[in-house]
Amino acid sequence: MSINRPFSITSLGTFASCRLQFRYAYVDRVETETESVEAFMGSRVHEALEELYRQVKNGLVRSKDWLVEKYEEGWRKNWHAAVRIVRRDFSAEDYLRRGRGGLEEFHDRYRPFDQAKVVALEEKISFTVRDGEDEFPFVGVVDRIDWNPKENLFEIHDYKTSGSLMTQAEADADRQLALYQHALTGRDPEYANARLVWHFLLFDKEVRSRRTPADLAALAKDVAGEARAIEAAKAEGDFPPRKSALCDWCAYQDICPLWRHPLAMENAEVNAYLGNPGVRLVARYAELEAAKKTRRDEIAELEAEQKRVEEAVLDFARREKVGRIDGPGHELWVTSREEFGVPLKKDDPGRWERLRKLVREAGRFEDVATINAFMLNARARSWPRELYDKITALLGRRTVWKVELREKRR
Ligand code: SF4
Repeated sequence: MSINRPFSITSLGTFASCRLQFRYAYVDRVETETESVEAFMGSRVHEALEELYRQVKNGLVRSKDWLVEKYEEGWRKNWHAAVRIVRRDFSAEDYLRRGRGGLEEFHDRYRPFDQAKVVALEEKISFTVRDGEDEFPFVGVVDRIDWNPKENLFEIHDYKTSGSLMTQAEADADRQLALYQHALTGRDPEYANARLVWHFLLFDKEVRSRRTPADLAALAKDVAGEARAIEAAKAEGDFPPRKSALCDWCAYQDICPLWRHPLAMENAEVNAYLGNPGVRLVARYAELEAAKKTRRDEIAELEAEQKRVEEAVLDFARREKVGRIDGPGHELWVTSREEFGVPLKKDDPGRWERLRKLVREAGRFEDVATINAFMLNARARSWPRELYDKITALLGRRTVWKVELREKRR
């Protein structure tokens, strides 16, 4: 299996939300300077807390002002023109203030930071997730690891600066810290008993969770399954874009095929906009679609009326016992034939199954069954890789293009 870059929980999440974004970030490794202000603020908060705890580790407790100064200094030094503020109702100053407020409350809550002993800060970990024969390399960064001597356990900490708070159920299902626990347990079995701790700085709230060895084993299996799906997508070059609310925070919007043209048109002069070949094609396509709809409505009305006439014709033919009905310039022929009605699985699953069983046991199934492209496209990807590869070697491959008119919404 070819693996050219280690996985991470972040990269798996990116793959799940938009495969194209995954490709830009982790396969093509497109360089981008664009950074969301939320990510920028999160980095500065992490740096300030790392510094604070480095001091704590050396026996020094720094003041709240010292912590705020570290944060603001980092903000000033790192600020750059490509920091993007998506939410128009907030300014950079608002984000700076929110981060500062979160740090002040954090300092108030934990000072003198003696709840546990600091073991590691911003610890980079590399590990392997195994599932059967397959092995997948992973990397991660743990914000802080503590040893809690009172409770005799390790704590794995994560700082969050997001504007949404995790519920307990979400924390219990969260994968990042649990995967780090899985990795650290591989190094030292004592981590099997670790506590997972999230600090939501903008809410002055701590959320905790624990995992059993069975939870960690199940997580490793899930994660390996996702890594395997990524490898399959890489082999097939299957990285379609997926538009969602997250696009507004995507650093690749300007090269993404779903955004390149709309973004270019956003700033175009009216005449340039109306003269743009793409804009003109959409306008014409929409016009034709509207005309087709008018015709379709008319045809639907004609068909409904014709159906009513057809029923009257059948009535007439049965009543008069005739198979040919004379008319001006045309005549109507009325014929009938007997054919089987095959039960559908959704309507009568018992009869559908009995029928299949009977035909299969009689050795006649292949006479009436056929492989169809629709079912193969829907199912084959979930079959074992080896079978899938053998089948796809026998299939032709074509790119199916589709043009679809949608109402414009950002
Ligand atoms: S802009 Fe949206 S669709 Fe395009 S790559 Fe980014 S997340 Fe995917």
